[in-house]
Amino acid sequence: MLNIGSHLSISNGFEAIGKQALEIGANTFQFFTRNPRGGAARKIDTADVEKLQSLMQKNEFSQILAHAPYTMNLCSAKEQTREFAFNTLADDVNRMEYLPNNLYNFHPGSHTGQGVDIGISQIADALNRVIKPNIQTTILLETMAGKGSEIGSKFEELRAIIDLVEYKDVMGVCFDTCHVFDAGYDIVNDLDGVLDEFDRVIGIDRLKAVHLNDSMNYLGCHKDRHEKIGMGGIGIDAIERIINHKYLRNLPFFLETPNELDGYAKEIALLKEKYIVF
Ligand code: FE
Ligand code: FE
Ligand code: ZN
Repeated sequence: MLNIGSHLSISNGFEAIGKQALEIGANTFQFFTRNPRGGAARKIDTADVEKLQSLMQKNEFSQILAHAPYTMNLCSAKEQTREFAFNTLADDVNRMEYLPNNLYNFHPGSHTGQGVDIGISQIADALNRVIKPNIQTTILLETMAGKGSEIGSKFEELRAIIDLVEYKDVMGVCFDTCHVFDAGYDIVNDLDGVLDEFDRVIGIDRLKAVHLNDSMNYLGCHKDRHEKIGMGGIGIDAIERIINHKYLRNLPFFLETPNELDGYAKEIALLKEKYIVF
């Protein structure tokens, strides 16, 4: 079975988001842990969380993905920004314990002129201050497009972060197809080659989720503009190969395409059609 969902708004609570996922034909979803502009996350309503958990169990959901705010930058040159990011990370990881055995994803960060090496050590340092060996969440670094001073557009950079984390068991990677393509990895003409490289550099076992997006731009553009499935530089044929690839086909796929709910429902239906069930 294809594990597929989209980004959804958590504003009406946990059970509501689960119901919304079902309405669009999804069996997973992604949500922001808090307003992307930052600020306090809402208090967790444990009864509401329990309703979501039973809905997920009944409908055989795969793991869900909580996404950190985009503004969370653990390797900014500004200490205040780093401190704010650290507090967000720590609070998010604590809160994820209410939803055990799921995924938490964040953008590694932008070094804002400090250089990649300093950025990598600051990211790993924050993770080491937050991660306790017994946490029940898998923490994912997202592959990035490489715009500005973003870290994570090369597999080697993600590997370097993981290498510096003490409790590596909880670390994984989220593969964003738009970002990887924009970073210059040719998943259209050489998906096998790219995934073999991922395996060689990071290890395929670290791959825990896919952000399934087309790209508005071309290979290696470093732009990060998501496009609807099949409407961009990646195209439907490559996306069909992606969802069926032996290294990817059992992972949860999350759409972050420019769509409202009906658009997500259509893309989910299309992808289910393209998924080969053995
Ligand atoms: Fe992201
Ligand atoms: Fe993404
Ligand atoms: Zn993006």
